[in-house]
Amino acid sequence: MTDTPLKLFNSLTRELEEFIPVHPGEARVYSCGPTVYNYPHIGNMRAYVFADILGRTLSWKGYDLTHIINITDVGHLTDDGDAGEDKMEKMAAQKAQSIWDIAQHYTEAYWADVKALNIREPAKWSVATDYIDEMIDFAKGIADKHCYELDSGLYFDVSTVADYGRLARAVTEEGEGRIDTVEGKRNAADFAIWRKTPAGETRQMEWDSPWGKGAPGWHLECSVMGEKLLGFPFDIHTGGIDHREIHHPNEIAQNQAFCGCGGLDEATHSGAKIWMHNNFLVERSGKMSKSSGEFLRLQLLVDKGYHPLAYRMMCLQAHYRSELEFSWEGLGAALTRLKRIVMAVERLKDAASGAPDHPKFAPLREKFAAAMADDLNTPIALVALEEALAVKKVDAGVKRAVIEEMDAVLGLGLFDLSRGDLRLRPRDATITEEEIEAELIRRKEARVAKDFTTSDAIRESLGEKGVEVMDGDPLGWDWKL
Ligand code: AMP
Ligand code: ZN
Repeated sequence: MTDTPLKLFNSLTRELEEFIPVHPGEARVYSCGPTVYNYPHIGNMRAYVFADILGRTLSWKGYDLTHIINITDVGHLTDDGDAGEDKMEKMAAQKAQSIWDIAQHYTEAYWADVKALNIREPAKWSVATDYIDEMIDFAKGIADKHCYELDSGLYFDVSTVADYGRLARAVTEEGEGRIDTVEGKRNAADFAIWRKTPAGETRQMEWDSPWGKGAPGWHLECSVMGEKLLGFPFDIHTGGIDHREIHHPNEIAQNQAFCGCGGLDEATHSGAKIWMHNNFLVERSGKMSKSSGEFLRLQLLVDKGYHPLAYRMMCLQAHYRSELEFSWEGLGAALTRLKRIVMAVERLKDAASGAPDHPKFAPLREKFAAAMADDLNTPIALVALEEALAVKKVDAGVKRAVIEEMDAVLGLGLFDLSRGDLRLRPRDATITEEEIEAELIRRKEARVAKDFTTSDAIRESLGEKGVEVMDGDPLGWDWKL
């Protein structure tokens, strides 16, 4: 089932391309990681669910995967250009805490979300501040030919590399509009690779460099860690679609400078062969934000009684390149779908896993494989999994093997889940499960005795405590908080 050639959409060429590894048998992937100045919102986590699906697919295809995700603990400004403050410095000042404590706290919070969403750990979490020396060396290597110094720092001159901004396409209109002008820049799109600490100021995070005390520009870290840990060119670079506009074009320009490479008609000159971007999770009101409206953290979903994997399911139901609109109803529907699947899987749990290659499953395994090989089409792959679960009159062990095989790619962890696990208690619930069950027994007795007044009263009083009684629920759920 893994024979279909894997095709992935390369943002650099805007085309579907067959995955042909740089190093035979291997897959080397770099994903831009979180800036750990705050909790990730669930939109951020969509980027890592996507990278996880990509990694799982490459493993399933038999490639020896090396996946790097970085942790940005320096350099990312409140603006994607060169104006604004360092997000980390700003949060540390707001909270009157050290940057290091802030970074540790939010890195751990991010890792908790990673775990809850069944995102596999990468080979390495590379932390930006562990690579300051390497960043300075990298910058030294390209400074003479590609950079110039201003009072505020060392800037990269984008006119010194061929095809600057090709990844963004619309860089002249959309991208540059978002870049703040810094006095003395040669081109609007030039960007800082080293930001000097202004005279008379001290920053919590600053290092000595040939260009004075300061901190690296945000784009530098990913070029450096990608090169150090995976080597140029590596296979795939991922990130959210916003990175297609500024962060990745700038990374690419640095990589071209570092390699002394020519233009981008040859994709490997960019430092990677394929650049992949997940589209955004949006709210009905527009862009997802950590500061305005309801801060959609994974923990909020859990507090409201939604299992984290319902969110993973929600992500899988959309293609990663499509925008996905978040709604509580949508999340509820994803949870119901997951429950149905988990209930069907529960019936297979006692069977010993057999061999999946049985003629009855061949077309569905084929459908699944074709979907995943078609630029990670998880919505169709999910349907194939459900259809496989519905196949009748087959050995349970064979079915189990088929589902395990598919789930290894989709990462729902179906055999580790039970119906009960999916029922989370909303944080503001005041009634316990035992109390609910006891009330429902009383209600059943009243109904048997045809005492509908009592039975209705019980239903109503449960309703006041936030419990919905569900008579005849197809999933066998009697109540919901
Ligand atoms: P940040 O912590 O801001 O650097 O973002 C972490 C990752 O989340 C990056 O790959 C972003 O491109 C991605 N991202 C940010 N917002 C969203 C969103 N609403 N939906 C999907 N991905 C996002
Ligand atoms: Zn990055």
